Amino acid sequence: KEFTDINALADEYFRLAYHGLRAKDKSFNADLVTHFAENLPKISVVPQDVGRVLLNLFTNAFYATQQKAKQADAGSYKPVVEVSTSQQGSSIEIKVKDNGTGIPDAVRDKILQPFFTTKPTGEGTGLGLSLSYDIIVKGHGGTIEINSEEGVFSEFIIKLNVG
Ligand code: ADP
Ligand code: MG
Repeated sequence: KEFTDINALADEYFRLAYHGLRAKDKSFNADLVTHFAENLPKISVVPQDVGRVLLNLFTNAFYATQQKAKQADAGSYKPVVEVSTSQQGSSIEIKVKDNGTGIPDAVRDKILQPFFTTKPTGEGTGLGLSLSYDIIVKGHGGTIEINSEEGVFSEFIIKLNVG
């Protein structure tokens, strides 16, 4: 583990995830919104592991907005993905929110299971969130909270202890 600037890590992977999707679909455009807390303390994590988690959360978020943009009734829909960081007492919080497809309740119950995916073959392994859970909860003693409303938004909140 290394003392890590979570804002810098999140910023890097946010852009990487967006460019990853745009490399395959040049017509895809999203608004990238960042709210990075100033003076966020560096925290002791395995940066590559937390980076993988963030990359997966961001990729999932952009993908969900891309899917919604492709729907017939998309109209003037504008994809927005937002990442925020903040300090809450002895933990820091990383929030990833998108205005994409949202997560149906029946799907919500399964998304942490390894190999569960709603994506076509080649686009998802279904390992991202199960791995994220292992890294954050088992590897770092943190938590992941999931909030969603089908068709409206999804939000993943990671909490990691400071120090
Ligand atoms: P994969 O991305 O390979 O499908 P994940 O474990 O990362 O695997 O995600 C599992 C499933 O959870 C996705 O296939 C999708 O159905 C759902 N999901 C995850 N994040 C989102 C999101 N931001 N919006 C809507 N659905 C999501
Ligand atoms: Mg994924």
